[in-house]
Amino acid sequence: MPINNSRLVTYSPAYTIVPTYECFNRCSYCNFRSEPGKIAWMSLSDAESILKSLQSEKVCEILILSGEVHPQSPKRQAWFQRIYDLCELALAMGFLPHTNAGPLSFKEMEKLKCVNVSMGLMLEQLTPTLLNTVHRHAPSKLPEVRLQQLQWAGELQIPFTTGLLLGIGETADDWWETLEAISDLHQRYHHIQEVILQPHSPGHQQTFDAPPFDPHQLPEVIFRARQILPPDINIQIPPNLVKDERWLLACIEAGARDLGGIGPKDEVNPDYPHVQEQALREILQPAGWELVPRSPVYPQFDSWLSGELQTAVKRSRNTMLLV
Ligand code: SF4
Repeated sequence: MPINNSRLVTYSPAYTIVPTYECFNRCSYCNFRSEPGKIAWMSLSDAESILKSLQSEKVCEILILSGEVHPQSPKRQAWFQRIYDLCELALAMGFLPHTNAGPLSFKEMEKLKCVNVSMGLMLEQLTPTLLNTVHRHAPSKLPEVRLQQLQWAGELQIPFTTGLLLGIGETADDWWETLEAISDLHQRYHHIQEVILQPHSPGHQQTFDAPPFDPHQLPEVIFRARQILPPDINIQIPPNLVKDERWLLACIEAGARDLGGIGPKDEVNPDYPHVQEQALREILQPAGWELVPRSPVYPQFDSWLSGELQTAVKRSRNTMLLV
């Protein structure tokens, strides 16, 4: 369903479960990671208690967002299994999982497809110059590794969310090049449901010393992105990172039509609390935009899901009146 040409703006009623904050990468703008071995992983029983408490809330998507264990680490198998088990648990409890856990092997991705209605990985930026700066200590941020993830998702028919992180030392030409690459892959596999345009927003933990991306620049980036990306890819912006209401509306006018997962906490940008549904509605409505909840999988991808996942999606759409 192309949402882009209507007066509808979507968001996903979501809650983020973090299997582990530990990460073997050290992106210098990160406000999420902890040192490996310092904080216990989330147990299944803790997750079950959280999910139980969410069953009476208006939550549909469980975003499984994880720090990364090195692919060669002896802990990798246990890490992957924990993510898989959390997805399975969330599904069994009536939620729709969407996992973003960094680069995966083809086999890992194939297995997670069975317990996720969609998955995601930010491409961030393709330019290799960032490997000498913000990604100097982040082996997972090799542009070719991330592009390959998008390709594998296409081959496996996984509805996919990706995006750009703006303002980490790249140029405007780098934005267009990254968007072109997403567009090319989508034209091959037709699997990208959304592209997030995320402005770098400094937080308390990061060592990267740079100003925030100027949100006033966002509308023109969105406008150009809308021209580069095929019309069936939705553009998402995180409203908690575009504080000025007028500029949020300008972003929507420029072509963004999704506000992403809205939940109690933005785990990636913990210094920027989510703007909640009612407050967003009050900003959008006077300008003629209607805010509607959506499922973490767009309807055009339903047939890519297993019968069991399709049933879960149908149930959620009906009970929560999702688009
Ligand atoms: S941004 Fe992601 S990959 Fe980079 S250090 Fe943080 S958690 Fe790890």
